[in-house]
Amino acid sequence: MREENCIFCKIANGEIPSKTLYEDERFRVILDLGPAAKGHSLILPKEHFADLYELPDEWAADAMKLARKMAVQIRGRLGADGLNIIQNNGEVAGQTVFHFHMHLIPRYENDGQKIGWEAGSPSAEELEAVREQILGA
Ligand code: AMP
Ligand code: ZN
Repeated sequence: MREENCIFCKIANGEIPSKTLYEDERFRVILDLGPAAKGHSLILPKEHFADLYELPDEWAADAMKLARKMAVQIRGRLGADGLNIIQNNGEVAGQTVFHFHMHLIPRYENDGQKIGWEAGSPSAEELEAVREQILGA
């Protein structure tokens, strides 16, 4: 299903033009308009899923296979030294377009980008408490 007012539904289905790198029955891969680095690409499903929680298993599997294929091609063609895969869910996590997408961000030596987080330092007991909370133990 597509959603009426979703820009990524329109881009994925070709109603709004994009710099397309790849297309098949399920997905379109495009260049991000505000790239973090040269070759920053987005994998968009052609059906509307707001985020990872809504993405069916088969689509998730296909998305990751496609990410791998594109990563290999991007590295080969652009000579990237590394690559980040980023996938944001929810506003607090930085999601701004509420149609599932995966970012492929090629990285280059001295590209000046900072993609990361402040590392915490929980005790072993705190880690165990989190483990039990997640597992419902
Ligand atoms: P996120 O913050 O994970 O929701 O990422 C949204 C991404 O979509 C950002 O990196 C934007 O630069 C990108 N973006 C938004 N609109 C367009 C568009 N029309 N074409 C290509 N990329 C877009
Ligand atoms: Zn959509």
